Amino acid sequence: MPRLVMKFGGTSVATVERIRNVARHVKREVEAGIEVAVVVSAMAGKTNELVAWCKEASGLFDPREYDVVVASGEQVTSGLLAIVLQEMGLPARSWQGWQIPIHTSDAHGAARIAEIDGSAMLKAIAGRREVAVVSGFQGVHKESGRVTTLGRGGSDTSAVALAAAIQADRCDIYTDVDGVYTTDPRIVSKARRLARIAFEEMLEMASLGAKVLQVRSVELAMLHQVPTYVRSSFDDPADPRQGTLICGEEDIVEQQVVTGIAYSKDEAQITLREVADKPGVAAAIFMPLADANINVDMIIQVVSDDSTTTDITFTVPAAEFERAQRILEDQRPAIGYAALQGATDVVKVSAIGVGMRSHAGVAARAFRALAEKGINIRAITTSEIKFSVLIDAAYTELAVRTLHSLYGLDRA
Ligand code: ADP
Ligand code: ASP
Ligand code: MG
Repeated sequence: MPRLVMKFGGTSVATVERIRNVARHVKREVEAGIEVAVVVSAMAGKTNELVAWCKEASGLFDPREYDVVVASGEQVTSGLLAIVLQEMGLPARSWQGWQIPIHTSDAHGAARIAEIDGSAMLKAIAGRREVAVVSGFQGVHKESGRVTTLGRGGSDTSAVALAAAIQADRCDIYTDVDGVYTTDPRIVSKARRLARIAFEEMLEMASLGAKVLQVRSVELAMLHQVPTYVRSSFDDPADPRQGTLICGEEDIVEQQVVTGIAYSKDEAQITLREVADKPGVAAAIFMPLADANINVDMIIQVVSDDSTTTDITFTVPAAEFERAQRILEDQRPAIGYAALQGATDVVKVSAIGVGMRSHAGVAARAFRALAEKGINIRAITTSEIKFSVLIDAAYTELAVRTLHSLYGLDRA
C-alpha cells in the first residue's frame, strides 16, 4: 500500500475553516487507498505569540519551560485536525511528539532528532487504517522525559524524519506557495516555479536564506533519499496543481547553470582595522569565536599600504553580532587591532546551481552586473555550486532582481 506523509504549515492551518480545507486534501489521499500520516504546524502567528510570552515572563527563561510553552501551538492544531477528520467520517487520532515517540537531543529550543520509533503509529495507519495527525516541531528527550522543540520552522523536519522512519513513498510539504521558486516570489514577481530541484541545490537555497524549508529537513531528505514535494494547500482539494519535486540530481533533465537566487538578512559584518600582519593572528581572532560557537561565514583580508598591518572583514549571524563584538573586545590585547567596526544593515545575496561545477566565470558576470547597477560588494565567497556577495541591505531587491534576470530565470 502506498504511504504518504503530508505536512501543513502555519498559514494552511490558520483557522478552523482552513483546517477543514486541509482535511479535504487528506481525505482525497485516503480515498485513493493511501496510508497517511499528517504533520501540522501551529496556527500562523501562534508560535511568535508563545515566544513573546516567554520573553515577557522572564528575560532569562529556562529553555526547558520555553519548549513546554512553544510546543503547545502544534498540540492545538493536531487535535483540531483530528476532530475535523472524524467529523468527515475518517478515523483519525492525534499524536504528540512524546507519544510516537520522537526522541531528540536535549538542546532545548533547537533539538535534533535522534531516533523515531514509528511502530505504534504504523499499527494505527496501516493496521487500523486510521489517519495519524502528528504535532510537528516537537519531540522528547528520552533520558529526562522532557518536551523539546526542533527550532523555528521545525515542522518540515518532523515531516521528513517521520517519512524516513515509516518508509513513506513521499513527503508532501503543503505551504502558502505552490512550490519552490527561482527566488522568493514575494519579492520578485517574475520568479518561476521549478518543476524539480536537486537535494543539494535545495540545501544551499535553504541554508542561504530561502525559508520555504527548514535546512535540517533538506539534509534529512537528502540523507534518506525521501522524495519531497512542495505544493500549495490553497489548491482545490479535488483538483490540486503541480508543485516542486526535490529529488536526486540524476532525475533532473533540463539543468540550468543557475537554478535559484537566495538572500539572507541574517548577517552582520565585522571589520578589524590594522591587525598585525603576522602568523597566528587569524587564529587569535577566530579561535575565541569558534569556542563560543559563533559561526563565521565570509572572510576577507586586505593588506594595507604599510604592509605590516592588515584589515580583516568577516560575517557572523546577526543574532550573534553583539556577543562576537564583546568577545573581540575582550581579546583585543591578544589580537592587537586599531579599531573594530560593525554593520548590521547588510544582506547576503547568493546564486545556486549544480551547473556551476562545469561552467567557469559564472560569478564574474554577477560582479559586473551588480557594478553596473552601482551596487558595491563588501565581501564574496564561492564554493562548488554557489557564490555569495555581501552588499548594503538597501539594495537587496535590486540585487536579487538583477541576478535573477542575468541568469535567465525571469518568467516570460
Ligand atoms: P509554512 O508556514 O507553510 O511553513 P513558510 O512561511 O515557512 O511556510 O515558507 C513559505 C514561504 O517561503 C513563502 O511564502 C515564500 O515567501 C518563502 N520563500 C522564500 N524563498 C522561496 C522560494 N525560493 N520559493 C518559494 N518560497 C520561498
Ligand atoms: N510552529 C513552528 C514555527 O513557527 C514550527 C513550524 O511552523 O514549522 O517555527
Ligand atoms: Mg515553514
